[in-house]
Amino acid sequence: MPRTREIGVYVHVPFCVKKCYYCAFNTAPHDDEAMRRYVSAVRSEIAIAARAGWASDVAVASVFFGGGTPSLLHPDDLAGILASLGRAFVVAPDAEITIECNPESVTRPKFEAYRASGVTRVSLGVQSLDDAILLTLGRLHGSTGARRAFEAARAAGCDNVSVDLMYGLPDQDGAAWRRTVGAVLDWRPDHLSPYGLSLDAGSVWGSTEVPGLPPEDTVVEQYWTLAREARARGYDHYEISNYARPGFRSRHNLGYWRRGEYLAFGPGACGFLGDVRWGNAKPVARYCGEIEAGRLPIETFERLDTGQALAERLILGLRTSDGVPREWLAARLEGDRRLAERVASWRAAGWLLDERDRVRLTEAGFLVSDALFVDLL
Ligand code: SF4
Repeated sequence: MPRTREIGVYVHVPFCVKKCYYCAFNTAPHDDEAMRRYVSAVRSEIAIAARAGWASDVAVASVFFGGGTPSLLHPDDLAGILASLGRAFVVAPDAEITIECNPESVTRPKFEAYRASGVTRVSLGVQSLDDAILLTLGRLHGSTGARRAFEAARAAGCDNVSVDLMYGLPDQDGAAWRRTVGAVLDWRPDHLSPYGLSLDAGSVWGSTEVPGLPPEDTVVEQYWTLAREARARGYDHYEISNYARPGFRSRHNLGYWRRGEYLAFGPGACGFLGDVRWGNAKPVARYCGEIEAGRLPIETFERLDTGQALAERLILGLRTSDGVPREWLAARLEGDRRLAERVASWRAAGWLLDERDRVRLTEAGFLVSDALFVDLL
């Protein structure tokens, strides 16, 4: 049962034409037959979820198509999935509906068709504007294709476009990163999501030697380059890895960081309702098979206890520039001397800041947040 009346919806579209070397997401090779079966299964999964007694009591405030490569979806299939959602739940008239797109799989007519289906926001996987680096990453697009895709989105009327970038990449020195940052900021995207490379288990690079990785001080300088340039151009660094022009924060992702509830559909998709987190079967064939047999494809299930819920609220809250309520944090630290000392040391180091009735990480705190959050678990 949901705790709240407003929920988000995540739809995982797992297909990719080619696996990027750094990627550990749940992906599957793109093929038309698998896509057809998947679309049918997702629509059925949504219909099964709609049978829950509470389904008519909630409103969907945001929908996020993530991947994989959601822009491999034919616009008719995207429209079909959104129609299924609209039949199953009340979708708020002003819902934010985002689709992640890769530059090589979009055109102006495709963006126009997505918009006609209800898409309000595009997240474009640019990663870099250095052709040699894009090749090293295993991406299928070049810098020209990335710029054309952005222009196609604008020409199609997309007025909320986010750009994903990566730093800390092999053979990416400070100058190469500055060129990418400067050029992308010149496009005037509404939102930016820059990620430092991490060599995750499950990726090709997670199990091999990756030559040419920059030293840590270069990666730190790359973080600050973007932080400075984005601020100078009016972007708000509102979450560790996210910047937005005023009014363009990602509503769907803010829901995650505020511990909002969300349904999840598709292979490997993870949802959160009440005090329960769950995850679907990851392999596409197994996911589809479960649904075709009339069963929900849930394979992992975790009920959070009070301590876990509090730690989550603290960590997720501190990911954003809104931070957490000061009084709430003070109450949380009472009786936990170890944590109180940690938090005091973060303040002394300049990583934590009191601002009116909130406590939040500074930009220097964002940079070391992974290490800080380990202390909170
Ligand atoms: S990074 Fe994106 S496009 Fe590349 S394999 Fe992973 S999900 Fe697919």
